[in-house]
Amino acid sequence: MRKIVIAGNWKMFKTRDEALQFIYNVNMEIPNREMVESVICAQAPLLRDLVKRQGDNLRIGAQNMHEKSEGAFTGEVSAALLENIGVRYVIIGHSERREHFGETDESVNKKLHQALRYGLTPIVCVGEPLAVREKGETDAYVEEQTEKALSGVKADEMEDVVIAYEPIWAIGTGKTATPEMADEAIKNIRQTIGRIHDAGTADKVRILYGGSVNTENIGELIAMEDIDGALVGGASLSAKNFLKMLSIAHEHINK
Ligand code: PEP
Repeated sequence: MRKIVIAGNWKMFKTRDEALQFIYNVNMEIPNREMVESVICAQAPLLRDLVKRQGDNLRIGAQNMHEKSEGAFTGEVSAALLENIGVRYVIIGHSERREHFGETDESVNKKLHQALRYGLTPIVCVGEPLAVREKGETDAYVEEQTEKALSGVKADEMEDVVIAYEPIWAIGTGKTATPEMADEAIKNIRQTIGRIHDAGTADKVRILYGGSVNTENIGELIAMEDIDGALVGGASLSAKNFLKMLSIAHEHINK
């Protein structure tokens, strides 16, 4: 039984005051983390404050990190520091980083190894642009991204890896993949992991869907066989909506 993960990606939104107000509003109502893993991924300067106030059931994540432990990399953040301040998750290879900051499959792979080395749970993003979907090449594209991201990761490390399938055309656009489309792509990712390792290993990996998830559609998405939760951008900025999505996830596992 894979535990559901609902991870909010705040992107470059929220000041410190807004972030702390959010935490104050949600803290008492977050479902027990034995049931649902609730995560907020915030801008780096907010992370320490959020970790201090996160409560027992919320986990805090970063949105990026550098692949090296330390060095002359002005403006970057190390996995060592994230681990040191109590951050537990890190998004790696978000399509916005691939598009605007030159993130490649190779850097994603290096960052993934580095995150695991420091005990951070990576949320590795893969997903196709619209042109690829329209050409009917989604499966091959996502398979290749998955294989490259996971290169050299051992089977016994895979349980600590979370993957997010995020079709680029669905991110921040209000266009969600249908539950069937999302489930099909996620099944394909699971099969890819099965080919790299074995079916038992693939079965343990949490694979989330991301792309315009909100309180209206999260229920039907997580009801699909292979979808183990959601990476949520815009809709995670509101405490009320974030809590609503967590409560839908909680209801789902109690069914
Ligand atoms: C994201 O930031 O990963 C995302 C899926 O954004 P949105 O939910 O706003 O589409």
